[in-house]
Amino acid sequence: MAVPKRRHSTTRRDKRRSHDAITLPNPVACPQCGEAKMPHRVCPSCGTYKGRQVAKAED
Ligand SMILES: [Zn+2]
Repeated sequence: MAVPKRRHSTTRRDKRRSHDAITLPNPVACPQCGEAKMPHRVCPSCGTYKGRQVAKAED
């Protein structure tokens, strides 16, 4: 197995980790029921997508 010959500097390590941060989910209000839902997903509350019923509504 390949073994690193030299230790990477803290700057090089931290530069690599500059892209590691996770982004928070971006919920949007459902145009049908106003419930918070993920964009481009079927609403888990009313089961609609683009104003069309595509899944069974939850209560
Ligand atoms: Zn909805």
